[in-house]
Amino acid sequence: MRFSRLRLNGFKSFVDPTDLVIHEGLTGVVGPNGCGKSNLLEALRWVMGENRPTAMRGGGMEDVIFAGAATRGARHFAEVSIVIDNQDRLAPSGFNDADTIEIVRRITRDAGSAYKANAKDVRARDVQMLFADASTGSHSPALVRQGQISELINAKPKARRRILEEAAGISGLYARRHEAELKLSGAEQNLLRVDDVLEGLA
Ligand code: ATP
Repeated sequence: MRFSRLRLNGFKSFVDPTDLVIHEGLTGVVGPNGCGKSNLLEALRWVMGENRPTAMRGGGMEDVIFAGAATRGARHFAEVSIVIDNQDRLAPSGFNDADTIEIVRRITRDAGSAYKANAKDVRARDVQMLFADASTGSHSPALVRQGQISELINAKPKARRRILEEAAGISGLYARRHEAELKLSGAEQNLLRVDDVLEGLA
């Protein structure tokens, strides 16, 4: 399972549809300051389900939409798609029935984000889980932001452990445990309410 293509449309400085073919091996992106290198990495993080605007260097998530320039008006939506080559069939279950998987995230002004996997609507959580189970994702230690190395050196042990857990691919399990705990506490609350009702009836 590997990334084979990244497509941006209206995402930050990439106002026109832009396709990047990702070949096997090491890929380098070079260009002058401000040409959009970091925006590419952010697009990758964003399509994998990043939901913190600050991780996108913005105040709100809609800041990822092309904001306009001297000669171009602002756009109403931004879209990023990532194509995954799954010929080795290593994608997590639920996504593993096709040779290629295309995940698309689109944000529209005042309407929020929507995700598709191979043209079918999916939830943000499904996409986040796909990448978490595959030991990658928007928080992956493989994506290194500017300034992140010094953050890592100064990080507390708990934060460092989280990075190791992401790398080991078990962060999806933590997310599922958290959801299960929430459901359990909801069920406990319901039981208490039933007890109250029964007492009232007695
Ligand atoms: P450096 O080498 O200096 O780190 P870089 O190549 O990584 O630069 P980026 O930081 O990716 O460049 O791109 C910055 C550019 O993206 C700026 O010109 C900024 O105006 C533009 N930009 C960011 N968000 C938007 C947006 N929503 N709409 C239009 N342009 C944007």
